[in-house]
Amino acid sequence: MSGYGNLQKIRDGKRTFAITPHIPGGFVLPETLIKIAEVAKKYKGVLKLTSGQRILITNLKQEDLESIWEELGMEPAVRVQNSVKNVEICPANYCKRSKYPTIGLGMKLSKNFHGMELPCRTKIGVAGCKNACTSVYSKDVGVITDLDGKMFVTVGGSAGYNPRSSDIVTKGLNEKEVFNLIKVIFDYYNEEAYAGEKLGEFIDRVSIEKFREDVLEKANLKLIL
Ligand code: SF4
Repeated sequence: MSGYGNLQKIRDGKRTFAITPHIPGGFVLPETLIKIAEVAKKYKGVLKLTSGQRILITNLKQEDLESIWEELGMEPAVRVQNSVKNVEICPANYCKRSKYPTIGLGMKLSKNFHGMELPCRTKIGVAGCKNACTSVYSKDVGVITDLDGKMFVTVGGSAGYNPRSSDIVTKGLNEKEVFNLIKVIFDYYNEEAYAGEKLGEFIDRVSIEKFREDVLEKANLKLIL
């Protein structure tokens, strides 16, 4: 990805940039981590572990960006702002509290939906128990594992400018049903929402009852709360 970077600061006429390589689910190989550290060191970058399970490399010069991407051999985490920008996954498979090993599902969601264009920026969170360690209730779309090992899907959360806690769409789901329901939700959101409308704003406009009724009918699922 040649030359891509976000302008961060202009200080005394000097412009500095940041980049964020794509690290699916925040799981990173030791070799990749070493490479990121080496490249950051070479170009005097400042490393920041972000709340989005990523590594931001900031304080970079524009003229170095192309070489930095080449040396990293990685893709930017975000190419289009109004898209699925992130899929955050808890380490359920390695956690004693987990009710279901949700990493596989999280990775499948990342592989299939990360980068998908939508009316507004969108985050997904996936958790293996009701502790919801990835702050799932503040994500636009969430998957949380219930006490019985089944999952429920949440929608409309936001931790940003206009905070909103999410609503549960339905409970008692298996992996396949979760995946299909999220696909239906994104298609419905793309078809019905205004450009720039956050999923939570769209739900508030049409009502959660109508939203649930429509997506559950399309996904052939029952309402269980
Ligand atoms: S959400 Fe539950 S399973 Fe996931 S890391 Fe937190 S405590 Fe563990």
